[in-house]
Amino acid sequence: MSALRRRVRRPVPEGAGEPGFDLGPVGDAVFDAVFVHVDGRIVEANRAFEKAFGYSRDEAVGLTVFDIFDPDYHDLVVERIRHASPERYELIGITRAGEGRHMQACGRTVPYGHGSARVVAVHDLTERRLAEEQVGVLAFQYAADLTTVSDIARRLPRTADAAGAREAICEGALAVCDGMIAVLMEPDGTGHLVSTAVAGADAAPMRVPLTAELSATARVFLTGEPFFLADLTGEQGLSRRVVTATGAVSALWQPVLHDGVSVGVLLVAWDRELAHLSDRAAAVVGLFAAEAAVAIERADVLARLDDLNGMLARQVEALRLSDQMKSDFVSSVSHELRTPLASILGYLEILASKEVGDLTELQAEFVGIIDTNAHRLLSLIDDLLTLAGLENGKLALHFEPVDLAEVVYGGVQALRPELEERGHQIVVDIPALPVVEVNADVHRCAQVIGNLLANAIKFTPEGGRIGVHMTEAGGIAELTVEDSGIGISEEDLGSLFERFFRARSATEQAIPGTGLGLAISKGIVEAHGGTLTVESELGRGSTFTVRLPVSVRPIEANREPAALSQPALHVDGGTHRVD
Ligand code: ADP
Repeated sequence: MSALRRRVRRPVPEGAGEPGFDLGPVGDAVFDAVFVHVDGRIVEANRAFEKAFGYSRDEAVGLTVFDIFDPDYHDLVVERIRHASPERYELIGITRAGEGRHMQACGRTVPYGHGSARVVAVHDLTERRLAEEQVGVLAFQYAADLTTVSDIARRLPRTADAAGAREAICEGALAVCDGMIAVLMEPDGTGHLVSTAVAGADAAPMRVPLTAELSATARVFLTGEPFFLADLTGEQGLSRRVVTATGAVSALWQPVLHDGVSVGVLLVAWDRELAHLSDRAAAVVGLFAAEAAVAIERADVLARLDDLNGMLARQVEALRLSDQMKSDFVSSVSHELRTPLASILGYLEILASKEVGDLTELQAEFVGIIDTNAHRLLSLIDDLLTLAGLENGKLALHFEPVDLAEVVYGGVQALRPELEERGHQIVVDIPALPVVEVNADVHRCAQVIGNLLANAIKFTPEGGRIGVHMTEAGGIAELTVEDSGIGISEEDLGSLFERFFRARSATEQAIPGTGLGLAISKGIVEAHGGTLTVESELGRGSTFTVRLPVSVRPIEANREPAALSQPALHVDGGTHRVD
């Protein structure tokens, strides 16, 4: 024990010569307890002291500081006195009744008689402490609630399995409420509420008429108000059968509301009597039911979506099959048409060759017309066969390294008569190097280029300009065929690559065609891993662009293709230039 403690325990001799210490009216006016002690012995106290510690003033005088503070703090008190510390500090005060109170003390040393005394003010913190503790408890409860809520969110399924979702809701409710059975009741559309999911105990399917006056389930569903029963004994609201079978003692019926409308009832029962359902618990279950409403709706929507998706998939498959059947049909009919047509063409050739006798001029002219039309028919049949092959994936492609420039020159040469006839100027702009090589079916490539060139010639009024450009960058060969022709309206551009589609600009001017060429070209380019696109404006020409991946191994340079060595063509003053 410290020297001071020993000293304070020694009674101060009465009338040791110090004058009385009087706090006076000021002392009584302050709210905090104030006392004066000399070496630990209290010599004066104010009125608030009486209230705080329960001692009358007379009783107080003569007590020591050890009588009014908890022993755990005695050393601290002695320390403060010894150092005449003016700092505030907290400690536990002991009232006359022996009650411990949280207090804050602050002392000052003042002259007193021949020596000094300490005036100590004490502030009772107990109420504030309790309030703080209360806040702590509440914070703890809120934290627990938050955990519960996130638990609920975690348990709620994000699934299209409507039955599984409902079961998970019941299981979640059960776990969160620490109950023994949870049942979800939903309207079945025939005036009944039926159990759509049960968790916890086994229970036979339940069915409650909405008109059952005694049924708590029906009542809760109809009113949208929750209902709690601490003791189910003798209660008709829950089926006797269920109560007996499950041993449920207390139960809560929580309406499941969606946008304020009842969509079900979530029933949670406990096998023990709950004195009352706390507001918190009710709120948590209510929240669960609200989440359940969303989950039910989501599950139902997802299930419907799943059904629709399934239906759509079946329809798409049926369409695919019928499309395939159509392609197969077109393909086989075209094949069948080809044989007699080949025979017609063969006999026409014989007639035209005069092997079977001379033809009159008129007969020769007619044979010529038949021949032209038979060839048009043949090319139409070929187009149909190609298209069917592209659609059903049966078009045979023979890939080999192809110098794209050669194919372009070949195409231009083949169409030279038409170019001349229509007086078009054509510019072919293909850099000699590097050689742009693609892995392609050369005949199909020629078909695409031929089609684009033929269209440019056909849809450009006489004396127009046609340009063919080719570049290669980043492993992609880009070939453009542009013309100064009639162009295509924005409206028609979107359907341009559909089979049999013909733009208004073409049909209005009665420019012949079948509307198959572009669909075939696009199919062929795509079968080569490329793209075919168009840019056009009505009356302002069109630009078609083919992009194809170039092959890894380029053909050796030093190319001088046949077309390159051709002399420049002069058609009606226009230049067929090969740069
Ligand atoms: P076709 O030329 O036999 O009509 P295509 O499939 O090759 O069939 O072309 C489809 C339609 O696209 C044409 O009818 C025409 O309306 C439009 N079209 C194609 N190329 C051009 C072009 N260069 N200029 C204007 N319109 C074009």
